[in-house]
Amino acid sequence: MAARVVNVSAPEQTFLEKIYLIEVAKGMIRTLGHFFRNAPRTLLHEVPVIGKKLVAKLGIPTIHYPEQKRDYSDRFRGRHILKKRDDGTLKCVACYMCQTACPADCIHIEAGEHPNLAYEKHPVVFEIDLLRCVMCGFCVDACPKDAIWMTRDYELSFFTRQSAIYGIPELTEKPSDTASDGPGYGYRPYYGQSPMKKAGEFQPSGLALLPVLDLRAKAINRMPPPPQAPKPAPAQAAKPAA
Ligand code: SF4
Ligand code: SF4
Repeated sequence: MAARVVNVSAPEQTFLEKIYLIEVAKGMIRTLGHFFRNAPRTLLHEVPVIGKKLVAKLGIPTIHYPEQKRDYSDRFRGRHILKKRDDGTLKCVACYMCQTACPADCIHIEAGEHPNLAYEKHPVVFEIDLLRCVMCGFCVDACPKDAIWMTRDYELSFFTRQSAIYGIPELTEKPSDTASDGPGYGYRPYYGQSPMKKAGEFQPSGLALLPVLDLRAKAINRMPPPPQAPKPAPAQAAKPAA
């Protein structure tokens, strides 16, 4: 089928429209309006003691980064951390759930046998390519062991692509992550909903988070044990010969 041709006739531009004078003037008025509104407030930052309080009260929209940092929500999705058990080992059991759920295909895990038999598996390799990561938090949601959380660290810049691939040493949680000047915890499971939420720590998900299932488990435990199969009768002793 032949392509349909549509003829469009643009209206003739006036002289002022041709030299963009009005558009430039409109843009300058808008820009200078923002400048004269924000500049005096920004200068208030430099006034000792009361300056910052005044700025906070006036609700100034700009901040002096990096001296000042924005206080993001506790659900902010920043750099990932791998959580540890009390004995210092990683909680991760290399189940590949996060790798499977990741829409950016940026998690790479290789599983190995854990020296402690109780844990069975652990990640020998656990890498996240932070240049591919879209910070969606799906890996956190998918983890059955609450082993991967996110922090509020948004200062992720790299000089090489290779340095953007974080392995186990970089991902393992460090005291500096939760220090007073550290980024603090960000997105993690059940935040703000879990009755098991404690000060900065969470219990692994399980029956306790689902009261209905918990009741059902208790009911099952109260049920009488299943009937035992009848024991075979002991063989009759052979009668002595007459
Ligand atoms: S935050 Fe999203 S994109 Fe990033 S590693 Fe997790 S699942 Fe993948
Ligand atoms: S989902 Fe959790 S336990 Fe499974 S591999 Fe990922 S971090 Fe480890």
